[in-house]
Amino acid sequence: MIDCLFCKIVAGEIPADIVYENEFTLAFRDINPQAPTHVLVIPRRHIATINDLAGDETSLVGEMFLTAKEVAHMEGIADEGYRTVMNCNRAAGQTVFHIHLHVLGGRDLNWPPG
Ligand code: AMP
Ligand code: ZN
Repeated sequence: MIDCLFCKIVAGEIPADIVYENEFTLAFRDINPQAPTHVLVIPRRHIATINDLAGDETSLVGEMFLTAKEVAHMEGIADEGYRTVMNCNRAAGQTVFHIHLHVLGGRDLNWPPG
């Protein structure tokens, strides 16, 4: 999609610190990390928000979680624990409208989140 930051990362038009990629997903370090590990997992396909997910995209969402699991293992945070978060729209603080799963770990995380 034109003018989507994360589509530009998928296309290689904007640099990113990519830690993992496969046919369906891409994982790269957040530019403003909120934990020692803060990686964003995105689908290669443009989907703006969770609200825009279509019924035939169930496996794509599953692929995002499998990528998150791979990243957690690669980062060495799988056993200690980590959090996955996907914000949807304004009230949740979504700022980039191409869905992304935050993978956060490497420190104790507070609950509930803000
Ligand atoms: P959200 O607020 O859930 O939409 O998350 C968007 C995330 O994208 C934020 O944590 C930003 O720090 C991150 N971000 C914005 N631009 C970039 C970029 N060029 N490379 C990596 N992460 C980015
Ligand atoms: Zn996009």
